[in-house]
Amino acid sequence: MFESLSDRLGKIFEGLRGRGALSEADVTAALREVRRALIEADVSLEVVRAFVEQVRERAVGAEVTRSITPGQQVVKIVHDELVAVLGDAAVPIDLNAPAPVTLLMVGLQGSGKTTTTAKIAKRLKERQGKKVLLASLDTRRPAAMEQLKVLGEQVGVATLPIVTTEDPVAIARRAAREARLGGFDVLILDTAGRTHIDEELMDETARIKAVSNPHEVLLVADALTGQDAVNLARSFDSRVDLTGIVLTRVDGDGRGGAALSMRAATGKPIKLVGVGERMDALEDFHPGRVADRILGMGDIVSLVEKAAQTVSAEDAQKMAKKLKKGVFDLEDLRNQLQQMKKMGGMGGLMSLMPGMGQMKKALAGANLDEKVFDRQIAIINSMTLAERTNPDLLNAKRRIRIAKGSGTKVEDVNKLMKQHRQMADMMKKVGKGGLGALSGMLGG
Ligand code: GDP
Ligand code: MG
Repeated sequence: MFESLSDRLGKIFEGLRGRGALSEADVTAALREVRRALIEADVSLEVVRAFVEQVRERAVGAEVTRSITPGQQVVKIVHDELVAVLGDAAVPIDLNAPAPVTLLMVGLQGSGKTTTTAKIAKRLKERQGKKVLLASLDTRRPAAMEQLKVLGEQVGVATLPIVTTEDPVAIARRAAREARLGGFDVLILDTAGRTHIDEELMDETARIKAVSNPHEVLLVADALTGQDAVNLARSFDSRVDLTGIVLTRVDGDGRGGAALSMRAATGKPIKLVGVGERMDALEDFHPGRVADRILGMGDIVSLVEKAAQTVSAEDAQKMAKKLKKGVFDLEDLRNQLQQMKKMGGMGGLMSLMPGMGQMKKALAGANLDEKVFDRQIAIINSMTLAERTNPDLLNAKRRIRIAKGSGTKVEDVNKLMKQHRQMADMMKKVGKGGLGALSGMLGG
């Protein structure tokens, strides 16, 4: 049965709860599991080695907060490091250049260049209203140019008329001229590949690049590329200086190893992923999701909960005691606001979870951002200790003073007081529920 990395790390550290810092021996045992998980995800050995060393450096001596286990601490470090390597946000295709903006698609034969070329054209046309021209420079396979033409028709995007006697460089020149004269916003050049990397392929690609002056050079690579991923990405990057990578057939590989390998080897962002043969099967790349997948799907939610407890372990214990008595004063509210802020607010929490992008947008709209936390914390800071522990003292006069002191309006103070009242009532009700209920609230 599949056992996630998080589970395995949990086992290694069973019974070690609450020790001060991670020892070298603890970390070595954990890293053995990390290495295995990465190899199972088909990450290239070279990248695995480098990655494991990075994690080791961060992990040895790291404090283990009382409320979580060393295993959870290591999972958190591994997750953070994965996101650091993969990048923490999706990077879109850059069209910020004078039109026609040229995109050059490179890669091995069968990697999905032609399909991806048409998919990108469809996306740019539909989402950004761009006028796109496609050109096939694949003079090797007679059907290749026809294939792009058919796909272009399918997505309603123009293709450069086929002239079978030209070489790729001549076609690139003609395409550039046509794109300029035809008033196109974007020109996408689909190139021929080889079954493997060779000098001839690299040379041809470099010559095409020289005459077409592309704004983006995108390596299209199969997500099922295993140990060759590093070599492939590096070869192309050193010859034609990639600006990004598109991983295809991600629908056939849930492990994400190639993404980590290629990104680590080149430092170039994975910009898009192909998830099927259909023209709409193209998605933004979400680094966080790949990190989650490598760690074990579904574990991320508990990981975040644990992280919330890491931040608030000491305070949570104090609060648990108060909760038993059903007390929740403004000091407690301030602590909680500070913890939420440390976690990057609701947005930060959400971005760690798969599929929460929409939710995050909705929350941003609801103004649940750092500024709100800051303002609320400022209001509480302007109160005296007596007021904080006994909110009933806060009459109109005091509220005016507090608003002035915190640079806010009386309405803001009133709103905060109302929010506090609601939370205090709720705390009274869940008092018996103890810590579980509290972390539920922190987790949103
Ligand atoms: P090229 O030789 O690099 O131009 O590759 P093609 O674009 O001709 O694609 C080769 C095959 O892979 C075709 O049958 C495509 O339909 C298929 N393909 C491309 N991208 C994907 C993808 O993201 N998922 C799946 N399942 N198939 C894909
Ligand atoms: Mg092709």
